[in-house]
Amino acid sequence: VHAKSDEEAAAKVAAAYADSGGPTIFDKIISKEIPSTIIYEDEKVLAFRDINPQAPVHVLVIPKLRDGLTQLGKAEPRHEDILGHLFYAAKIVAEKEGILDGFRVVINNGPTACQSVYHLHLHVLGGRQLKWPPG
Ligand code: C5P
Repeated sequence: VHAKSDEEAAAKVAAAYADSGGPTIFDKIISKEIPSTIIYEDEKVLAFRDINPQAPVHVLVIPKLRDGLTQLGKAEPRHEDILGHLFYAAKIVAEKEGILDGFRVVINNGPTACQSVYHLHLHVLGGRQLKWPPG
């Protein structure tokens, strides 16, 4: 099967790499080796501005410990607590960013959804009228 676009090709390469269990760029963001604009942080999660924002507010919320959560589709019963914590952190981010009246939380899962980083992350998007359906 041939990829239809560069984006799709890159997503497939990232997915293949993730299957090897390799580290991702988010490890360096968590360790602060790569600087990021942190919006919220606690012992379990980190929320920082996306480097390529798709809306005036675009924040990623990630677990500090990946623990097998390369993508939502790999979730197991042991992940229930961190999944709940991530969603509550998304709400805190929306509140801090002043977009509680209208925001979107997105998780891209796998190459068909154009996931590019294989460390689970919630996109928190807002600050403009969002369209539906998404692309
Ligand atoms: O859902 P997906 O895997 O495509 O999202 C990854 C996100 O991580 C992208 O929105 C990308 O802009 C962001 N990113 C980032 N900083 C990096 C690398 C990727 O904010 N250094």
